[in-house]
Amino acid sequence: MTDELFTPELLEAARLTFARPSSFLLGCAKVEQLPPPDLPEVAFAGRSNVGKSSLLNALTGRKELARVSSEPGRTREVNLFLVDERLRLADLPGYGFAKVSRSEAHRFQNLGRDYLRGRVSLKRVYLLIDARHGLKPVDDEALDALDLSAVSYQIVLTKADKLKRGEAEAVAEATLKRISKRPAAFPRVVVTSSEKGTGIPELRAEVLLATRLAESE
Ligand code: GDP
Repeated sequence: MTDELFTPELLEAARLTFARPSSFLLGCAKVEQLPPPDLPEVAFAGRSNVGKSSLLNALTGRKELARVSSEPGRTREVNLFLVDERLRLADLPGYGFAKVSRSEAHRFQNLGRDYLRGRVSLKRVYLLIDARHGLKPVDDEALDALDLSAVSYQIVLTKADKLKRGEAEAVAEATLKRISKRPAAFPRVVVTSSEKGTGIPELRAEVLLATRLAESE
């Protein structure tokens, strides 16, 4: 089914979009600092250390676009990137990081929540899950928040290179089953490895479909 969906034309359009210049726009500590919602946007969320920065770098083909921080959970802001002058990527604060205080954790959870609820240009949230671990209780909280915000979200498994191919597919299947009753969950899981480049063309294609940018090619 996915082969029919990801036609060579779509994959090529997606490749071209992400091959065009991308840049860091700004980091927002408050939703008031966000730019006007005048371009389609997709957001990336996940536990600290899930591989979010690496995935953003792999998507845009820029090694240092989102700095792969040595300290997990350093991202405390909504960081926005501009791709091809017509698409924004939002890097949401990581969650589930034990080293920050509870009040600090709340502060950036609230920021993520406010962003999700109020952003009319937001077309999809990609929730990143480590392929080795699958969904954890801490992710369930994120899923609940996403369902409440009623924004379409899709699960992306990361670091699939750490598993055998069949294993990653099995985690994808199990994950899909777990989220099947969740109202805002998109019924496809993308299996990726930023290290090997696996699933990156398909994720780019998913972004094009979600933002309907493929139709304006
Ligand atoms: P973030 O905290 O979610 O932004 O995660 P990072 O992108 O900083 O990655 C956390 C750690 O996982 C780093 O040590 C990365 O090198 C590693 N990592 C990220 N993506 C991959 C991947 O696709 N495969 C493997 N094997 N390691 C990865």
